[in-house]
Amino acid sequence: MTYDLVIKNGTVVTAVSTTKADIGIIGEKIAAIGQDLSGKREIDAAGKLVTPGAIDVHVHLEMPIGDFISTDDFYTGTRAAAFGGTTTIIDFVETAPDETMLAALAARRAKADPKVLIDYGLHMTIGPTDIAKLDQIPGVYAAGCASFKLYMAYGLRLHDGELLQALTAVCDVDGMPVVHAENWDVICALIAQNVAGGRVEPHWHPRSRPALLEGEAAARVIDIADYVGTRLYIFHVSCQETVAQIAAARLRGLPIYGETCPQYLLLDWSLYDLPGVAGALPVCSPPIREQAQQTYLWQALAQENLQVVSTDHCPFALDEKASRLGNYSQIPGGVPSIEIRFGAVYQRGVQNGALTLNQWVAACCTRPAQLFGLQQKGDIAVGFDADLVIFDPERPFTVTPESLHEAAGWTLYEGMSFLGWPQTTLSRGEIIVHDGELLAQPGRGRFVKRAF
Ligand SMILES: [Zn+2]
Repeated sequence: MTYDLVIKNGTVVTAVSTTKADIGIIGEKIAAIGQDLSGKREIDAAGKLVTPGAIDVHVHLEMPIGDFISTDDFYTGTRAAAFGGTTTIIDFVETAPDETMLAALAARRAKADPKVLIDYGLHMTIGPTDIAKLDQIPGVYAAGCASFKLYMAYGLRLHDGELLQALTAVCDVDGMPVVHAENWDVICALIAQNVAGGRVEPHWHPRSRPALLEGEAAARVIDIADYVGTRLYIFHVSCQETVAQIAAARLRGLPIYGETCPQYLLLDWSLYDLPGVAGALPVCSPPIREQAQQTYLWQALAQENLQVVSTDHCPFALDEKASRLGNYSQIPGGVPSIEIRFGAVYQRGVQNGALTLNQWVAACCTRPAQLFGLQQKGDIAVGFDADLVIFDPERPFTVTPESLHEAAGWTLYEGMSFLGWPQTTLSRGEIIVHDGELLAQPGRGRFVKRAF
């Protein structure tokens, strides 16, 4: 048997095993895993790790927020993802008040399809005006949106009764609800107090969004989910207070899951005290917390009380961040990490001894696929999409805006050095990045229909 492509002599790392093996690819699929395979084309991966393509289930590309649009579009965002070893992302759809969910989905796909370099899925957002459209959810699920985003904050915030209605509707189709859990009433009151008192610097941003109340919101929506009988996934967990609620629910046997992000694992809230726009750049929600929280989050990943590392990648341009320096609550919220996630979790997780190689792959590749209905992705197994990363554990990478392929032109990780970085990224059998060179065309990525 001669395969189209064979990745030879690599150390194949999955969520459950680490073995020396060759991987044979036919067309877009993994066709064999074994010894001494031969192909029309071969890549020598001796000394390298071969992992499933990484999956980022939480990104916001060209997302409108107020007067601004997040800086990476579906091209630059998926390009940066590919350089970082990510082969699938999940972004979002929001409906206009008078628009059906299916029409909004079609419009979002029309934006993404010509630009994407890698495969993508979409979460359907259920905002307050969508409560009247819950009967559309079966149709949306059938169209490939298997997960639904619920907000407990911002203008899209659902009140508890609406959360109950939305969770019930998602449960009825066996979908996955994902939630932004914060206590919006408390946040609004604290922001009003601070702004009235002239406390308008970014320093006050994390102090307006207390960890304790992030945990309270998570506990509340977990209880509503328990009452409904649905599974639930908590987005961007920033603190031990929320981990504790997820852990307690899991001990009760509930199907509750959570993710955290590089900004919470690698950074701390002293960044908000940097002068000028530097203090505005890290504004995101939930906020980046005190340094001690990082240890809890790494432990939660190791203990599988958190299952996933995603990014919540949503940067804005420097001048947009700077334009609202007079009031921290108006600074467009969101930070970038779509390119560094896989390498950063390897460095700070595996190299520092917080995670095993297999836990790294589980958190960045396999669990995201399993929890979000990406049935052909996230694992190295016969029949799966040949989405693969050849990861060089000896390859150094120093983060600068110039070394990244993101559009924002700034990064919170500037100056950090990582040892271990993707060398080659394959998407459905096609080499899309090799040795720092992009080899693929926009539009080659596909919308992936997800289901459970
Ligand atoms: Zn987000």
